[in-house]
Amino acid sequence: MNKKGHVLNAVFLSIGLAYLLEPAGDETTFIAMVAIGIPVTLGALFPDVDTDFGKHRKTLHNLPILALFVAFPYFFDGNLQYVWIGVLTHYVLDIAGSKRGIALFYPIWKKEFGLPIGVAVSSNRSTLMTIVVTLAELVVAALIIYDVPLMALDAARSSVGI
Ligand SMILES: [Zn+2]
Repeated sequence: MNKKGHVLNAVFLSIGLAYLLEPAGDETTFIAMVAIGIPVTLGALFPDVDTDFGKHRKTLHNLPILALFVAFPYFFDGNLQYVWIGVLTHYVLDIAGSKRGIALFYPIWKKEFGLPIGVAVSSNRSTLMTIVVTLAELVVAALIIYDVPLMALDAARSSVGI
């Protein structure tokens, strides 16, 4: 996906996440939007730095890089929180939304992984694809935030009496 797609994805995702976490629709929602939106948008821009340094869709498009961003806030308190969400959503959009995949296991394995539903980055359907991917991400986020899989598991458990 191109820069525009990644920024659109990050901004809409952040707005959705802010409403999921702070649904009041008042200034707490707005503060969450800024607190989430800035790091997520920065994170979403980061992986494509490898167009200039290293191999594009490989060097900064892999799980070890994502793991660094996930781990960083645990080691350096309060810094770079949520940036990993931007990096992750960038990967998701490249994998699901565009034709060419990314090398998730680089440098160990150079194979690029993608989903067959992706469209060409230059295609005029790429903005639509970005919105579809963002909505799907928000559904997953809502399921996680509201513990839906856990609730379903509990319901299933109690229905069979365990
Ligand atoms: Zn990319």
